[in-house]
Amino acid sequence: MTRKIIAAALLLTTSLCANAQQTDVSEVRRIISTLAADSMMGRGTFTPGIEKASLFIESEFEAAGLEKLPGAASYRQPFAMKGRTIYPADSLALVPGAKALHNVVGLIRGKSKPEEYVIFSGHYDHIGILKAVAEDSIANGADDDASGITAVILLARHFKQHPPERTVIFACFTAEEIGGFGSRYFSRK
Ligand SMILES: [Zn+2]
Repeated sequence: MTRKIIAAALLLTTSLCANAQQTDVSEVRRIISTLAADSMMGRGTFTPGIEKASLFIESEFEAAGLEKLPGAASYRQPFAMKGRTIYPADSLALVPGAKALHNVVGLIRGKSKPEEYVIFSGHYDHIGILKAVAEDSIANGADDDASGITAVILLARHFKQHPPERTVIFACFTAEEIGGFGSRYFSRK
């Protein structure tokens, strides 16, 4: 499901970039290469690498001028997970062994139909460190799914410049590679 949305987002970005200036191309390169950098260590869920990726996406959302979800203090949409079960963030203290994780979500309110929503999404986690291939063990995940997140960020900027009629939500999910948990939590909310 996420993939289809990403494909749509990528198509849209491609067409946006086709008639845009060189700066957009260099921005695509900057964002995607930051997310896929070795320093992000493959963005495995529950690793320091994915925390770095999150901070980067949050700073991009801030720079783009996105709003936060209603009542949220940051772009993080926190929840908890134990085994393959997801819980609301406030159950962290109640469920022994549950770990914290979060999606990164921002939005632009629609001008005329703010109660209708359009969502662009990608996932910012990847599979982390694997068995080395040619002495390289970091799965950088440029296309899976740094490219999708790049599209989400550039779409956010685009819609900030061209205010939408409907509310547009920009969602970067976590823990997709290990079972689609981020999007599952998001769609429950
Ligand atoms: Zn993926």
